Amino acid sequence: MNREWYQKANIVDMRKALDGGTVSVKQLVQWAKEIIEEKNKSINAFIEVWDVNEDEIAQAQQLIDQKKSFILTGIPYAIKDNISYKGKHITASSKILATYIASYDATVVVKIKKQHALCIGRLNCDEFAMGSGTENSIFGPTKNPADTTRVAGGSSGGSAAAVAIGAVPFALGSDTGGSIRQPASYCGVVGLKPAYGTVSRYGLIALGSSLDVIGPCTKTVEDAFIVMEVISGEDSFDMTTKNARAKKSAVMGKKLLEPKNIKELVSPEVWDQYSATKEKLKKEGYYIDEIDISLFTHGLAMYYIIQPAEASSNLARMDGMRFGVRKEGEGGLWSDYLESRKVGLGHEVKKRIVLGTYVLSAGHYDAYYGKADALRSSFIDEVNLLTESYDALICPTTCDVAFKIGLTRNLIEVYNEDKLTVQANLLGSAAISVPMGSINNLPVGIQIMTSPNRADSNTILKTIAEVVEKIRA
Ligand code: GLN
Repeated sequence: MNREWYQKANIVDMRKALDGGTVSVKQLVQWAKEIIEEKNKSINAFIEVWDVNEDEIAQAQQLIDQKKSFILTGIPYAIKDNISYKGKHITASSKILATYIASYDATVVVKIKKQHALCIGRLNCDEFAMGSGTENSIFGPTKNPADTTRVAGGSSGGSAAAVAIGAVPFALGSDTGGSIRQPASYCGVVGLKPAYGTVSRYGLIALGSSLDVIGPCTKTVEDAFIVMEVISGEDSFDMTTKNARAKKSAVMGKKLLEPKNIKELVSPEVWDQYSATKEKLKKEGYYIDEIDISLFTHGLAMYYIIQPAEASSNLARMDGMRFGVRKEGEGGLWSDYLESRKVGLGHEVKKRIVLGTYVLSAGHYDAYYGKADALRSSFIDEVNLLTESYDALICPTTCDVAFKIGLTRNLIEVYNEDKLTVQANLLGSAAISVPMGSINNLPVGIQIMTSPNRADSNTILKTIAEVVEKIRA
């Protein structure tokens, strides 16, 4: 076992090596650090690397030596900079939280700590997770490991890139409209957005509370579900985890649904890759139907009303009064708020707060937020009805390969990045992005999504995603 092995190894490989005594926890941490040292300067995935305490390493090793290891014992990992880790800085890549230190562990961190995995640092993201390229970060963009002139995607760009360079076998990200799946697609790794309410958000800096979920980036589908299994479960600190809807179990078949007219949305090269993957799926016995789904036509418009509305309310607490950066104005408390937010928040964040407050304001609520919310419910019903006779929905994760850093695009072009991913968040369903190939060396992923009503959605996703993994190999 050596560093090259570590860089390629997944959780399952590491588990075997640790339990078999062919590698030590200390070695894994050492290799992780060396890879970061060598690669991070050009990639900018890690914004802080932590010294792993000797006691933590010793405890993990002891569990392994006593044959009492859990699935993640001794495995290095890293977290997006919007997930709380007690005693460590957490900024959501925003200036306004530059001085803030987490005072408690997020529930996902507690669960992973119980298994004695070792967190080695925090990862770059778009400010407050608003963006698709990790370019809206005070730490500068994360670069794509396949081509450093391009973005790694966003907002969990650091999480996907950290796994892609082999620094860690898994990293946690958050997904409000595609932020795990889109960077996973761009970096050639697996990205899992769990169903809403299956993973606690306690300790996650909230963006859109009816959409947010924490999930993993990994090298394999199997690993994604290993992490999912560890981090999921009911949590009294997040009431949405108690709210599991009545779910139906159905017999899993091989019937897939594809939203109609998506060919026009994606680049011809991505379409070719996707078509080739579909052909292979058909050879594996899958049947694919094309159907018009309103959520795919109107999803983005609804998302960019609902999400800023929720963001504006969640971000009201970022006022420089209670935590983070505070700048005093010249006219009392009101000017302190204005100054603190003026210097502390970036352009995209300000824009969404303004947009969000507008669509929620008394005079515009019915025309915007009310309408989007009502449509969301009716579209959910439509998809639920449709998916009753199908096992999952498939489409490319992204419309194209990773875009160039610094590309000047208008707002609509940027928001268009999320065209095929926001639906899973609006629905609350589980979705996964699995690498399906690459175009001129730039990776692209296929997305598999289930109905939020199915109790067996994880089994369905895992089964189909593993078929994609197999046919790609
Ligand atoms: N790109 C989307 C946005 O900017 C998704 C963000 C996310 O999932 N956190 O809102």
